[in-house]
Amino acid sequence: MNCLTCSSSDVATPAIGSCTSCGAGVCARHARIDAHERTHVVSLGIHTPRVVRALICSTCAIVTEGSKPLSAETAAL
Ligand SMILES: [Zn+2]
Ligand SMILES: [Zn+2]
Repeated sequence: MNCLTCSSSDVATPAIGSCTSCGAGVCARHARIDAHERTHVVSLGIHTPRVVRALICSTCAIVTEGSKPLSAETAAL
């Protein structure tokens, strides 16, 4: 799999992973590591906050930064 962003400029760069948002292949140059806290339910009434890493492409990074969730979205997950 090659980086989708690079391939749009006719450059074939091997992808280091795939974007968790759109599924496109991303190279090291275009990858963004998005770390966010997610509450993990261990058992009834016990919630453990965990930091989850998510690999996203530069295009999705621009989109998500433009519309940051307003607290309620992370609580719902
Ligand atoms: Zn790339
Ligand atoms: Zn993406």
